[in-house]
Amino acid sequence: MTASKILATPARFPRVLLPPTLPADPINLDAAVAAGAFNALRAAVEELRADGVIAALAESGMRGRGRGGLPLGEKWRACARAAGDRRYVVINAYQSDPAVVTDRLLLEKNPYAVIEGAAIAAFAVGAGEVIVALRAEATNTIRVVQAAIDAAEAGGYIGENILGSGLEIRFSVRPLQGNYMLGEETVLLKGLEGKRGQPEQQPPYTTTRGLFGAPTLIHGPQTLAAVPAILAGGMAGFLETDPRAFAGTILVQISGAVARPGVAEVPFGVTLREILDVAGGVPNPHRLKGLLVGGPSGGILPADGLSVTFDHDSLDAAGAQVGSGSIVVLDQHSCVVDLAAVLTRFCADEACGKTIPCRIGLRRLAEIGARICEGQPRGDEIGRLTDLSLDISASALCDHERRATLSLLSVVRYFRDELDAHLLRNTCPAGVCQPKAETRAGAVS
Ligand code: SF4
Repeated sequence: MTASKILATPARFPRVLLPPTLPADPINLDAAVAAGAFNALRAAVEELRADGVIAALAESGMRGRGRGGLPLGEKWRACARAAGDRRYVVINAYQSDPAVVTDRLLLEKNPYAVIEGAAIAAFAVGAGEVIVALRAEATNTIRVVQAAIDAAEAGGYIGENILGSGLEIRFSVRPLQGNYMLGEETVLLKGLEGKRGQPEQQPPYTTTRGLFGAPTLIHGPQTLAAVPAILAGGMAGFLETDPRAFAGTILVQISGAVARPGVAEVPFGVTLREILDVAGGVPNPHRLKGLLVGGPSGGILPADGLSVTFDHDSLDAAGAQVGSGSIVVLDQHSCVVDLAAVLTRFCADEACGKTIPCRIGLRRLAEIGARICEGQPRGDEIGRLTDLSLDISASALCDHERRATLSLLSVVRYFRDELDAHLLRNTCPAGVCQPKAETRAGAVS
């Protein structure tokens, strides 16, 4: 079982993905159906038809949960209209961030919502096959999803002749092994094809040329799990938001120096303070230093940044990202310089190596971070770090390169005192780094 607690949230936060009414046994199909599972699929097949489903989603304003998330209506329509005899729906549940379990938790607690959303998507775009792509190590999630697929197929909700309509939509689970980049959608498709995993430039978009060259709709489990609720009208009002905003909810994983670490379903647009409150805040006597928001390629925001709202535009402007939905809370015992250096090294190690500015640039950036932590700066490290980061982002082929510079840049932006302590006074205020400038000064050129 994926070990993470689901946190209680204020009543004003809708719970669409992990509703409080979920059956105790997530695989129990009868209990799920009694709670409303597959009603939206029935309505889609028997009443709305494919065009009606796409129109309803377009009207809802719902977008994919990712940063570049297109409106669902637009994306599904593009896939439905693309030329091709075969079409696929791929559920991207690989979840690159090794520390985050939100998608796995959703699949384990509410598998039928994801299966139903994917079946509706397949029906709407004319796909006959749905592939659930998961980490091979997520053995319990794979077991639950496979059991739910088997039960839904036996119940006539997916597979052959779904709901007596004559339609056939086959589901399969594909465990994958790979690195961080496998979560990127074009890399994931290559992984499913058994090819070397390197991102491809888009366009052509995967909706027109995806898996094995066929039109393919790729979504994460959280996006698909919201689809039945949208069609059932359960998100009415909630989706009537600013069209620039991301409507709906997202699962965030809060860890680090908080009283109650765990996973919480929050609406896009709540403040980081509200999210921190859900996790019980930072226990006394420790004081909040900052928050790493968005996973290994996220940014570190300062303690006075709690009024930033959790949505793509606001976090981008603040120098962080929604990313994996991870929020790591840092207290005074954490060194943000050390953390940023380690994260940059991780991102450099995980880069696929296809483009030189990323392959070489991130490595050089990680070396700058390490030199600062070790008390061995070479001249104007901050200027070099900033220039190199801008060069790396400007030449990015994929999002990994664009985002991997965020952590060190956010330290320059928000934690200059801490950086100066390392650079000018050869000290680490948190007591984490052990600068060695005196003993190794002779080795520095
Ligand atoms: S930017 Fe980096 S991770 Fe992306 S394709 Fe190029 S080398 Fe690979």
